[in-house]
Amino acid sequence: MTNRRVFILQSVIGTSVLASGVVMAAAPMVDPKDAAAAGLGYVEDTAKADAKKYPKHTKEQMCTNCSLFQGKATDAAGGCPLFAGKQVAGKGWCSAYAKKA
Ligand code: SF4
Repeated sequence: MTNRRVFILQSVIGTSVLASGVVMAAAPMVDPKDAAAAGLGYVEDTAKADAKKYPKHTKEQMCTNCSLFQGKATDAAGGCPLFAGKQVAGKGWCSAYAKKA
């Protein structure tokens, strides 16, 4: 195989790996400082929720056991319809929390 052929093959393979990487890449995480997230009191670690502002919060409440969480109970992160196109932390929490039935 000529060097040129090898180069072209490597380029094609490299490009398809890159392209599939982009397609399979996970959605970005929600930034707790984003206006929408901050407005809901979202935190990446439920233990850090503002207890004064949200007195009904308990540390057992977290995204993975919220009815709105779109991942599995064991997932480190997953989707939430409140933050379309992004992921919330499995151990995260926000004031829209609704216990999974
Ligand atoms: S609504 Fe539920 S899953 Fe979504 S960020 Fe709030 S606690 Fe997490």
